[in-house]
Formats: sequence, structure tokens, C-alpha cells
Amino acid sequence: TLAAEINNSSPEKLLSPVLSAFWDQPNSWTLETYERHEGYQGLKRALAMSPDALIAYVKESGLRGRGGAGFPTGMKWQFIPQGDGKPHYLVVNADESEPGTCKDIPLLFANPHSLIEGMIIACYAIRSEHAFIYLRGEAVPVLRRLHEAVREAYAAGYLGRNILGSGLNLDITVHAGAGAYICGEETALLDSLEGRRGQPRLRPPFPAVAGLYACPTVVNNVESIASVPAILHRGKEWFTSMGSEKSPGFTLYSLSGHVVSPGQYEAPLGITLRQLLDMSGGMRPGHRLKFWTPGGSSTPMFTDEHLDVPLDYEGVGAAGSMLGTKALQCFDETTCVVRAVTRWTEFYAHESCGKCTPCREGTYWLVQLLRDIEAGKGKLSDLDKLNDIADNINGKSFCALGDGAASPIFSSLKYFREEYEQHITGRGCPFDPAKSTAWA
Ligand code: NAD
Ligand code: SF4
Repeated sequence: TLAAEINNSSPEKLLSPVLSAFWDQPNSWTLETYERHEGYQGLKRALAMSPDALIAYVKESGLRGRGGAGFPTGMKWQFIPQGDGKPHYLVVNADESEPGTCKDIPLLFANPHSLIEGMIIACYAIRSEHAFIYLRGEAVPVLRRLHEAVREAYAAGYLGRNILGSGLNLDITVHAGAGAYICGEETALLDSLEGRRGQPRLRPPFPAVAGLYACPTVVNNVESIASVPAILHRGKEWFTSMGSEKSPGFTLYSLSGHVVSPGQYEAPLGITLRQLLDMSGGMRPGHRLKFWTPGGSSTPMFTDEHLDVPLDYEGVGAAGSMLGTKALQCFDETTCVVRAVTRWTEFYAHESCGKCTPCREGTYWLVQLLRDIEAGKGKLSDLDKLNDIADNINGKSFCALGDGAASPIFSSLKYFREEYEQHITGRGCPFDPAKSTAWA
């Protein structure tokens, strides 16, 4: 089984970097460094195929979207209608903002050409001549680095007209957002890119049918696209030799919180948090894991009972959560769960775009109740009220932000109801803020 195979693997084999292979080298972001490490080899192989064969190849590799939902990448490309006479667009979602999620920004900073190469391959497949990178606005140094990498790619003939003599033309536009979490939702992102206020659109139609400027558009996450060149260069069999049948390949796990060595860990899908902690130095000395998120704050939290859950889409799903963005935020026993959930909920209330009532009003009321409970002013009946409000947001909101806001409420009440009750009966937080870093 996958678990047995992973358990018997050496740490070197498990942490076999691909995307992060040369991040620690000087000038890792330059074209020259990228070309010394297999750079633009996958593109050459892709251009030797027909676009349809290329889409079939990516589909057969089993690559799934790394933005959180895990939708099959090749299938998304295949949805783009052909012969429709309309322009087609590729839009890369680099608006990474989910609390705890921090993989795309380091990837772009250290290795931007892997994204650019993947974009050229994807555009060839979907017959697009104009692609966009929508970058989180706060990441100004990354914006500069992306502009420089795009300039290098033009100068080397990887972008522009008749790329590598193939007849393919492609321009890339880098666009910085203005710091709204909702603009990471793909349709709000498209509205923002078109110059409007970023608010989610009704789906269907999905962007593959009517996306940017109402034209067929593929919206893919940074890591998904950056993973494509290596699949082309090393082969789909290499890719499917890692991970599980339904979640093949490698991916970036972002370890953060009360751990000895936070950072990006590239490993096959299906690895467990226990293995990642064993290999990275574990929780900070003298402390133990209390709760963690498998994929950012919008995925239901886990506890130390879930250390052996395989971190792939099926494994995490079967254990009651979602793999999401693979943002493994680890909290030790000094953390007040009510305080952590309050902080996350404040974030969702602040970022709610206001378009639909359950999320706009519900997140506001969740914050009021949580603040009261944390301050020792809550009532036991507030716990049912919390659950009820979250229930009225979940599945009844216009986009996934509402579901994400409800998720930490449900899971924290499921695993830590007693801790909520302690706040209420003890008239205050039982945790000493001086001993916890969760307040930082
Ligand atoms: P979704 O499952 O609705 O869609 C996933 C992708 O598949 C989309 O691109 C969508 O267009 C496409 N798709 C789905 N069904 C389709 C169909 N029938 N035809 C054509 N295309 C189809 O998920 P979502 O609402 O886009 O995203 C939710 C995810 O976003 C969550 O899982 C969460 O983890 C993640 N997320 C990530 C961040 C971040 O910072 N990276 C932030 C917030 C949320
Ligand atoms: Fe806006 Fe929240 Fe409704 Fe999404 S769920 S449309 S963020 S108000």
C-alpha cells in the first residue's frame, strides 16, 4: 500500500525536490540557472506533440490542481472549446492569500521560470496567445522578479512571436491585485482583471466556457502550471510513480506554526504529517501538537489523532477534512483554540465581499460571539448559536469563502467543545497569553 511504501522510504527519497530543487542556489531565479536545471526542456517536448496529444498527456499524468480544489488539470484544459473563433486565455491565479498558505509566493520568488515554461506549454495546448499572471498585490518583490523573468523569456525567444520556430505566439501580462482575499476566487479574479470590483460570478458558466472578457479561459494555480514542465521532460510514468493512484505526483507542503523548522517541504502526495515532522525536527522542544490544518484555515482542523492521515485528496477527505492548499499550520498545547478560531473568523469577516447575506452577516455575528466567549462574557447557549450561524453560512453562500469561514467553527466545536465551555464557565480564557505565541 501507499502508506507502507512511504513508511519504508528513506527521507531522501521522500523529500525529493523538483520545483524546489535549486532554490538555495545563488540567483536561482535567473534564466541561466533554470536552463542549467532542465529548464525549457519540457517545452521542447511539448511543442513536438499536437495540442490535443499534449492535453491527453497531461490528463494521463493525473496532475490535479494545486490551488486547493484538486480539479484534474488536463481535464480543465480539455474543456476549452476548439474552433469557436474566440480568443482563449490562460490566467494564472497567484493571489495566494488563504491563512497559512505560503507556497506559490516562494515558488515564484525562487523559480519563476518554471511557471513561465508551464504557461507556454498550457497556452500551446489550449490555443491561447495571451496569458495573465494575477499576483497578490502585497508581494511587491515577487512582482519585480516576475517582470524580470518575463523580460528574460522574451529576450531568449521563449515568448513573443514564433516561439522556438514552432509558429506559436504568446504574450504574458503580469498584473498585481490590490490585496483582496476574494480576488483569489477565480471569477472575482477575472472581474478584477477586467477592471471591475472583484466579486464572484455565478457558476456555471465556468471560466472554461465564459471567462476573461466572456471568452474560454483556463484559470490554474501557480504550482499546478509550474509542475507541468517536469512532467513533460521526465515523463508521465515518472510522475505517476509517486503519490497514490488518484492523487499522483509530488507537491509542496507548507509547514508552519510551533514547529522547529517551518518552510516548504516537497514530497509525494500521501505523506503524513508525522513523517514530515519526523524529518523536519518536529514540534518545538518540550511541546506537543494540539491541532493543525491540512490545507489552510478553511479546511476543517485536525488533532494529534490525525498524524497518520495520508496527505492526499482521498486520505484527508476520508478523515473528514480537505487537502486544500497543503498549508500545515501546527499549533501546540499552549494555543487557545477559541482565540485561534476568533482570529481566523475576523479574517473572513473582514474579507467577505458582501455580495451574499449568509456570509456578509453571518461572519460578522460569528466574530461577535467568539469575541464574547474569548473575553469570558459568553453563555453556554452561544455554542449552539455559533453552530447554527455556521450552518446557515455553509452551503448557503454564493462562493467558497462562506464555507471556508464555517469550517473552523464546526471542527473546533467538534474537537474542543470543552475548551469553549471552560471559557464560559471560567469567565475567561484559561490560557496565559504570556506563554503562548498564538497571540502574536
Ligand atoms: P471548485 O471545486 O468549485 O472548482 C475548482 C476548479 O475546477 C475551478 O477552476 C472550476 O472552474 C473548475 N470546475 C469545476 N467544475 C467544473 C465544471 N463542471 N466545468 C468546468 N470547470 C469546472 O473550487 P473553487 O471554488 O474554485 O475553489 C475552492 C478551493 O479554493 C478550496 O478547496 C480552497 O482550498 C481553495 N482556496 C485556495 C486559496 C489560496 O490562497 N490558494 C484561498 C482560498 C481558497
Ligand atoms: Fe462574497 Fe462571502 Fe458571498 Fe462569497 S460567500 S460572494 S465572499 S459575501
